[in-house]
Amino acid sequence: MTLVETGDNGNPSSYSAAGAAGTEHLKHNPRKDMIQAIRDNDAIRCLVKTAEIHGHFCPGIALGVMASLCGLRQPEVAFAPSDGMEDLMAVVEINACFADGVQAVSGCTLGNNSLVYRDLGRTAVTFVRRGEKKGVRVRVRPDFRSRIEQAVPGFYPLMEKVVINRDGSAEENAAFMEKGWEAALFLVQLPFEEILITETVRPVLPDYAPVTRSVVCPGCGETVMATKVVAEGEGRSLCFMCAGSPYREVEGQGIVVRESRKRPSPDVCGHRSGHGQSNRGRGPSSFRMHDSDFVFSELGLKEGESLLDMGCGAGDYTIQASGIVGNSGTVYALDKWEEMIKGVVEEAGFQGIRNIKAITSDITGPLPIRDDCADVCLIATVLHILDPEQDKKPLFSEIRRVLKPGGRVAIIECKKEVRPFGPPVHMCLSPEEVEKMVTRHGFERIGFTDLGYNYMIQYRSE
Ligand SMILES: [Zn+2]
Ligand SMILES: [Zn+2]
Repeated sequence: MTLVETGDNGNPSSYSAAGAAGTEHLKHNPRKDMIQAIRDNDAIRCLVKTAEIHGHFCPGIALGVMASLCGLRQPEVAFAPSDGMEDLMAVVEINACFADGVQAVSGCTLGNNSLVYRDLGRTAVTFVRRGEKKGVRVRVRPDFRSRIEQAVPGFYPLMEKVVINRDGSAEENAAFMEKGWEAALFLVQLPFEEILITETVRPVLPDYAPVTRSVVCPGCGETVMATKVVAEGEGRSLCFMCAGSPYREVEGQGIVVRESRKRPSPDVCGHRSGHGQSNRGRGPSSFRMHDSDFVFSELGLKEGESLLDMGCGAGDYTIQASGIVGNSGTVYALDKWEEMIKGVVEEAGFQGIRNIKAITSDITGPLPIRDDCADVCLIATVLHILDPEQDKKPLFSEIRRVLKPGGRVAIIECKKEVRPFGPPVHMCLSPEEVEKMVTRHGFERIGFTDLGYNYMIQYRSE
C-alpha cells in the first residue's frame, strides 16, 4: 500500500489505508450498484447514476437508460453484465444524450471498446453477446416527443431557447434543468412497450479491439498507437498531427474528417546548426525517440556515479541522469552553444536540481573537467555532426583522461536509414563507422543496444 503525501501541488490527496480497503469489495465488480439496479429493474436509480456522468437530467439519458434496461432483459442478452471486457457489446446509433444512458447502464463504453458507435443518427441501440449470432435492437418509438409535450408542457419551448438558440437567461436555464428532470422521471416510469420497440437482429460486430503496440512519435515525442502513425511516404512514422495528415474525430456532428496543420519537419537529433541551418533553438532530441529509461538501464548508471553528457543540447539526458545519480553523483553537461547551456541551467534551477555542472565548451577541444572523474561519458547523436575530416584523436584522448579507470563511453547515433525527419542519411553514421572511429583510439566495445530509430554502442577503455 503506497501512501501518498499531500502537497499543494494539485496532485490527488493522500488516501488512508482504511479508505483504500473500503474499495476492496468492489475489485471484482465495481459496477455492483448499477447491476443491482438493473436486476431490480429500478430505472430511477439507473437514471440518477447516469446523470452523474451526463451532468444533467434529460429525456435523452432517460431513453438510453430505458433502452438499455429493456435490451439487457431480452433473452438474446439475458443480463450479461458488462465487465468492460467486450463480452457484451453495444452498438449505438446516435451520439447524443441517449448514448450516455447506454454507456452508464450497459457498461459498454467508448473506453472499454465494448461500445461501437455507428454514425446513423437514429435513437437506437443493439446489444449482443460475443459469440452469439443474435442480438437485440431497441429503438425509441417516434411518438416519444408528443408524450413529453403532453406530460411536461414547458420542456420543448425551453429547450429551443436554452439549447438550440443558446440565449436562455439564468432563470430559463434553471427552469430547463428542472423540466429536464421532470421529463426524464416521466419517461423512466413508463412501461417499456409504450416508448420502445425491440427486434431480434443478427448484427455484424467488429473483432475484439486490437491491443496495439505503442511507438514514440519522433516529431512530438508523444506515445502513439503504432496503427496511428503515417505508414509510408513523406511523414512516415510521424503521428497524424506532426505529419499534417487528415484524421477522423467523433464530435457533435458525428464522425468527421479533420485536417491537421503540418508542423515544420522535426530535426531528430536537435543539432539544427549542424545540419547547415542557422536555427539553434531547441529541437526535439533523440531523447524523445526512444525509451530513455531503457537507455539508462542499459547504461547501468547508478546512484553516486558521475555522467558526462557531451553535446548535451537541451539537456534531456542530463536532467534524467541527474535524478538517477542523485545528490551523491554529478552530471557534467557540455555544449558549445551558450543558449543550450543557459537553458539547462535554467531548467535545473526550475526543478531544484543541484548536481548538474553545465559548462559552455567545445567538446572537440580540451574538456573543462579534471582527470578521472566520470563513470560514463554519453555522446548522444553528436558524433555525426563533427567534421568528418577532423582528427578524433584529441577528442578520445580527452575522454580517456576524464574517465575514471574502467569508465564507459556510450555513443547513441541515428540508424543510417532514409526517413523524413532527423539528419539526412549521408550524415548518419552506421555502427561500423562509429566502431572504426572509436576503437582505433583504444576503446573496446562492450555492448550494442537497438533503440528503434537509433542505436547505442558502449565502450570501455582498453
Ligand atoms: Zn442530456
Ligand atoms: Zn507527433
